[in-house]
Amino acid sequence: MDRVDKETRSRTMAAVRSTNNRSTEWKVRSALIRAGLKGWVVRDTRVFGKPDFTFPKHNLAVFVDGCFWHGCPKCRKTPNSNTSYWTKKIQRNWNRDKAITAQLRRSGWSVVRIWEHELCSSKPPIRRIQTKLIGISELVPRRRPIRVPTGAACRRKGK
Ligand SMILES: [Zn+2]
Repeated sequence: MDRVDKETRSRTMAAVRSTNNRSTEWKVRSALIRAGLKGWVVRDTRVFGKPDFTFPKHNLAVFVDGCFWHGCPKCRKTPNSNTSYWTKKIQRNWNRDKAITAQLRRSGWSVVRIWEHELCSSKPPIRRIQTKLIGISELVPRRRPIRVPTGAACRRKGK
């Protein structure tokens, strides 16, 4: 059993969730900027499912899913306490994500879902967004390199 009461726990988890969201959103934002991609909007609440990023001109929705909350098959780790509570909760999120993706696609949107863990991998997930955009429009710069700059390169850019 958990030592903390339900209310404290849900407050703690909400805080964890919102901090994670902010930092992953920030990582994606800066990756989009570095890749030279333009025309995106952060969390447009008018779009069904409230995608984390949308490219309205291209009808492209991008979701960045936290590995824990959305049940990433690669990183899945169910907490030892209240296992059935968490399993159900994560399953619900997983089902909702699938339903949202399907509904958006039915209404003519392209959908890219990025796992939080992909943001730390050597293969930048931004490439998937870029590929989609190139598929949709010729306006997107093809040759722009999307390598993640090192610290030195970032500093030089400012001059
Ligand atoms: Zn993961």
